Amino acid sequence: MAKILIVEDEVKIARFVELELKYEGYEVEIANDGRTGLDKALHAGVDLVLLDIMLPGLSGIEVCRRIRMESQVPIIMLTAKDDITDKVAGLDMGADDYMTKPFAIEELLARIRVALGRHSKAVNEVKKDILEYGKLVLNLSSHSAHYGEDELTLTKKEYELLEYLLKNKNIALTREQLLNNVWDYEYFGDTNVVDVYIRYLRQKIDDKYGIHIINTVRGVGYIIKDEK
Ligand code: CA
Repeated sequence: MAKILIVEDEVKIARFVELELKYEGYEVEIANDGRTGLDKALHAGVDLVLLDIMLPGLSGIEVCRRIRMESQVPIIMLTAKDDITDKVAGLDMGADDYMTKPFAIEELLARIRVALGRHSKAVNEVKKDILEYGKLVLNLSSHSAHYGEDELTLTKKEYELLEYLLKNKNIALTREQLLNNVWDYEYFGDTNVVDVYIRYLRQKIDDKYGIHIINTVRGVGYIIKDEK
């Protein structure tokens, strides 16, 4: 369940919201001033920040601005007065939403769900560009491959072969399928080229890191299977 940070100097309000959120199943962190709030927003692994604007020390607007320099965590501003300049300033600083106190807790909960949902959708969209297999990570937009911290130096064809195998994980692929999908027609009928490139990939990944990613399916071809 998501972890929510409440940055609020009015202890009674913080406590009330905390109880409601916990009742809904959220984990809760509390900060009673701006500096602690900023620190927890960046370092306590929180999924959403409820940020009061009128805070002692660092104002909510300033906390919001500083969070945004480092993090895209969803922020809902809480403002005591119905002050349009505060709202605009908060949104300008990158807050996702705001609520005017006093608020109905049901409305706050609904806005929290929306902000969390929107954020996880955005994170997933970024993730679609990544193919992962244990420590092996392919970045489809930059055409780069890493094993842990190491960048793998793959040729264009090696990369494309690996990408195709990973995209069709758990499917035994014949040499003809691999040839047709990775090499177009330049090597028409000559499936030996597939074996040669599988060998290159195994040298650069399996052998180098002492793992077993690319499996031979006897009489068929090759497969990358889900890790056990
Ligand atoms: Ca306050």
